[in-house]
Amino acid sequence: MKRTGIFFTYFQGDRLRDFPLALEGLLCRENIFYYDALYDSTDGLFYLEPASERELLKIHSREMVARVRRTGDYESAAYSAGGTIQAAREIAAGRLDNAFVFTSFGDHHAGGDFFGGMCYFNGAALAIADLKDKGLRRFAIVDTDAHHADGTRDIFANDESVLHVCCCWQDYADGKNNVDIKIPYGISDEEFLNRLERALESRVLQFQPEIIFWEFGYDATRGEYGDKGLSPDCHPRIASLVKSLADRVCQGRLIAILCGGSSRSIARYTIPRIINCLAEVDKI
Ligand SMILES: [Zn+2]
Ligand SMILES: [Zn+2]
Repeated sequence: MKRTGIFFTYFQGDRLRDFPLALEGLLCRENIFYYDALYDSTDGLFYLEPASERELLKIHSREMVARVRRTGDYESAAYSAGGTIQAAREIAAGRLDNAFVFTSFGDHHAGGDFFGGMCYFNGAALAIADLKDKGLRRFAIVDTDAHHADGTRDIFANDESVLHVCCCWQDYADGKNNVDIKIPYGISDEEFLNRLERALESRVLQFQPEIIFWEFGYDATRGEYGDKGLSPDCHPRIASLVKSLADRVCQGRLIAILCGGSSRSIARYTIPRIINCLAEVDKI
């Protein structure tokens, strides 16, 4: 069994309206640790902290942070990024093995000086900046959202400490540590998983990251706004693939970050199954 952290805020909007209730049965397990933005426990152990401005400025420009403040979404964006930063800290300190981070606003369209597409701050990039300060040196980001991770690519384009594998519509030449996997419309789950495994496995084994971040977007699911034809069952299978790689190369250190997707029923179906996989609930 893994020690799995769940990082949860109350700003997420309609798609996550069934949560945390939909996690019932998971939250009472002794290997699952729930970090909540609302309830400040007396010992502070399981309280989710928003990202501070000092932390945001490690990746984002001061001017951009000021622009996000003017949108009215600053607080929920800071909690979203804060969950990922905190998850990474808990894993680096050895208190957790892996984590699932609920977000109101995702990561991957937020660059050093720009944001858009429902992303304000890049939580994975902020967590990596924090881990670098703690001495970690090698990181992998796997992105299975339907869209290209322009913000993440902007931040790490010239950073050899980060392997970035992005499933999107592009077919870029392999830029050494920056890889796009072309995902055509109407792809089957099997073919998606085959392409992902082929692109990921050898690179991750060679790169030897100390932790893997998984930008989990479900907007490529059938009927979603980034529909590529995937079934809801594909996402727990992606979780299993990425987790087994993390188990092989970095003692299971893995953070799943909720990215794109709008359907309430797909969230309710996939997220508990992904957390089951991360926490190895079925192995009990
Ligand atoms: Zn997307
Ligand atoms: Zn891409």
